[in-house]
Amino acid sequence: MTFKLDLDLHVNGEDGDFRPATDFARWAESAHAKPTDFVASDAVPLPPSSSVHEVTVMIAGEEPRMTETIRNCLQAAGFRHFVTVHDPAWALDSARRHRPSLMLLDMVMPELSGIDILEQLRRDEALRYIPVIGLAESVSAELRLKALELGAEVLAKPLDLSELVLRVRNSLVFKVYQDRLANEDPLTGLPNRRVFLERLRSVLNAAPAKRNVQALLHIGMDRFKQINSSLGDKAGDLLLGDVATRLQSSLRREDRRAGRRQSDAPMLSRIGGDEFALLLPEVQSAEVAGRMARRILVAMSRPFQYDGRDLFITPSIGIALCPTDGQDDETLRRHAVAAMVRAKSNGRNTFQFYSTEIDSASREKLALETRLRRAIERDELLLHYQPKIDLGSGRLVGAEALLRWKHPDLGLVPPDQFIPLAEQSGLIVEIGEWVVDRACAQMARWRAAGIGDIKVAINVSRQEVVAGGLVPMIGDAIRRHGIRPGQLVVELTEGMLMDRVDATRAQLEALRALGCELSIDDFGTGYSSMSYLKRFPLDELKIDKSFISGTPADSTDVAIVKAIIALAHSLELRVVAEGVETDAQRHLLRDLGCDLFQGFICSRPLPAASFIARVREINGLREAPIGVPPELIR
Ligand code: C2E
Ligand code: CA
Ligand code: CA
Repeated sequence: MTFKLDLDLHVNGEDGDFRPATDFARWAESAHAKPTDFVASDAVPLPPSSSVHEVTVMIAGEEPRMTETIRNCLQAAGFRHFVTVHDPAWALDSARRHRPSLMLLDMVMPELSGIDILEQLRRDEALRYIPVIGLAESVSAELRLKALELGAEVLAKPLDLSELVLRVRNSLVFKVYQDRLANEDPLTGLPNRRVFLERLRSVLNAAPAKRNVQALLHIGMDRFKQINSSLGDKAGDLLLGDVATRLQSSLRREDRRAGRRQSDAPMLSRIGGDEFALLLPEVQSAEVAGRMARRILVAMSRPFQYDGRDLFITPSIGIALCPTDGQDDETLRRHAVAAMVRAKSNGRNTFQFYSTEIDSASREKLALETRLRRAIERDELLLHYQPKIDLGSGRLVGAEALLRWKHPDLGLVPPDQFIPLAEQSGLIVEIGEWVVDRACAQMARWRAAGIGDIKVAINVSRQEVVAGGLVPMIGDAIRRHGIRPGQLVVELTEGMLMDRVDATRAQLEALRALGCELSIDDFGTGYSSMSYLKRFPLDELKIDKSFISGTPADSTDVAIVKAIIALAHSLELRVVAEGVETDAQRHLLRDLGCDLFQGFICSRPLPAASFIARVREINGLREAPIGVPPELIR
């Protein structure tokens, strides 16, 4: 006999989204319970391995003969776990204790009717979703309706035992499926975050009684966002599924340890996005957790396959231990995450145990970020200006504006220490706006002071481009301060041109249309592909100081510098050498035809007031005292 599964059932998943019945059919198939099995007339039992058989069935009825028969019958069909209750008064207590997945309930018992029990069951927070099948001598329409209203179906006695088995099985198939929706991460099939946190809490609550250590590993995949943005979300999802499988298989050996109790088994979960958490409820020592982390790193070092290609993805792992690093779930999780962040900043693809030193570093970082938020309003930011010198004429033709933070306690904080923080927190957008405004105001002031139209370059971070709004903000500052748009040079890095190419190009073209110049900073350190050079409207390349520092002694550096200059000139771009510290470097660059340089040999970045003196000094603009020829003053 065949049966067509003809429902349009939607099950409400834990995360509030609705899953169609086809999901259920797929699952039923994977559990070897084909939809066509459901109403085979001759009770075909599920395969012995089915998870449906692992659940507990409760049988509540006063007649031992009846409960015994039902139990034997279900046992013959493969079910293994039963709770039998003969006193209806105990039915609910017993259900609370054993948490059955299904209840068979005699509806007609002298002391307490089945309907009463059902009503109480449905009012009980912990028990309300247990499927119930009622059993009654005769089923009146009224009883059937009342039971249905309470979410139960009723079978009439004498029971058709093969029908009973099938009904039990069908209810449980749905129950197991629903549990799965509520407890599993749909992408990886791992226990979801809620289940993981419940387990973590219960393990930690039981911990004082244990002599061993509990370890929490927080596993973050390195640069996963890059994979998502370059290959698409679908590739990312598939990859996460493969990562989960590989993590699980690296656990398996640990899992098979002889004599392990169920309650000590490790639990792996996808805790969110590209992050996994692993709980080892019972390890002999910290070293065991370290070994586990090492095993995961080894397992992940083999490439993953996507679309016939090899993909490499590495994890960074933070480890926190109970009781030393925390005894409650929140502290332990926070510390495992802090240790993972440290593992990432140590170069990724590694693991790190939590230590109080990490905690104080992350507290310091938080304090710094909080302080930085108020830096603009408290007027703690300032710009220093480093002269840009024309190698041919020796004249100062421009400056690069470099940000400084005058921290009340820490003194002058260099940008390397606070710009990454500003970028991570998004504060850089507001700070960047401040930089543009101050740089334009400074150009206007210098013009008024009579040192001419000095070009000023500002540095822009990726986040500012991504946020949009850069073009109108710059246009507005230029107009307000009345500077020539060509005086403002915007410095970008190569990586920024590789990201969201079309949107970025549109913004750069708009900046160019305003009249601003565009410069590529740290040229040669980013991407090897140079095709962007012809796709973007650029004016200037800045040779990174790492290439300059080796010259003139290192012939490879000389060759690279020479090649960059030739490349830039053939594309009609201006070339600036950064980090020039010696005369030999300056001479070499001049001989190679480099246009401009900046570096300590001429000047460190200077406060605006000293800068003006330096311009006058270099360009010979100092007003000559009467009767003294200007050349004598230089
Ligand atoms: P950058 O844009 O590559 O800036 C050049 C860095 O080289 C500056 O470091 C400068 O002081 C340093 N430098 C200049 N001449 C020499 C030299 O002869 N030898 C050596 N060894 N170094 C030299 P600084 O001021 O610490 O800035 C570091 C980075 O911070 C900048 O690198 C830039 O990426 C970022 N930054 C600075 N100001 C801003 C800003 O306003 N906005 C953004 N988004 N980033 C900024
Ligand atoms: Ca720069
Ligand atoms: Ca640079």
